[in-house]
Amino acid sequence: MSRTRIGIMGGTFDPIHYGHLVIAEAAWYTFSLDKVIFIPAGSPPHKRNSHSTAAPARAEMVALAIASNQHFDLSLIEVERSGFSYSVDTVAAIAQEYHNEADIYFITGADAVLDIGTWRQPERLLSMCRFVAATRPGFDLAKLEKLPAPWRNKIDVMEIPGLDISSTDIRFRVQEERPIKYLLPEAVEEYIYKYRLYRQ
Ligand code: ATP
Ligand code: MG
Repeated sequence: MSRTRIGIMGGTFDPIHYGHLVIAEAAWYTFSLDKVIFIPAGSPPHKRNSHSTAAPARAEMVALAIASNQHFDLSLIEVERSGFSYSVDTVAAIAQEYHNEADIYFITGADAVLDIGTWRQPERLLSMCRFVAATRPGFDLAKLEKLPAPWRNKIDVMEIPGLDISSTDIRFRVQEERPIKYLLPEAVEEYIYKYRLYRQ
């Protein structure tokens, strides 16, 4: 029997948008994953005074966005932990849920993967999973060459048609009353307006 293959899609998701959903679906297909688990980040203590959206609301938007996809799941593991979570701990926890018998693929965009050297315990993290690096406009995956070879060998580049969508841009658009339609699922758009997110 072949091993279970699990994708992990981590992010702030403030809010979730089609960029996230497209790379998760592409990874599911490309790497024959059994499922992709979306893991919204908890609210980091050092961001308490900033305008970032409360974790339960970000998680709710993820739930709305993935509801129609049977192979997408939501995990509240980071939301329910107090304070900041490190990917290395999250991946270890998910691996353990599968009795360390699943192959884990950590799905990222080009910007996130290029930062991996700044993450906590990158070596240990890369020993527990492979990384999927998706194309993202404005970020050059050729820079992966600069990473140490043992790291690079754990990273699979996934070319997707670049989608120049970011949560930052969506937040600005809402604030400036410009449209966000077609950048994210309608249910998420409605949630943002209903709870008046990103107004200031
Ligand atoms: P923000 O602007 O607030 O940083 P974001 O759009 O970058 O938001 P994140 O929650 O930071 O979204 O990203 C989660 C993951 O999704 C990261 O690995 C990021 O690289 C990836 N990602 C986000 N948007 C895209 C996109 N348009 N194309 C490819 N990857 C993306
Ligand atoms: Mg980001």
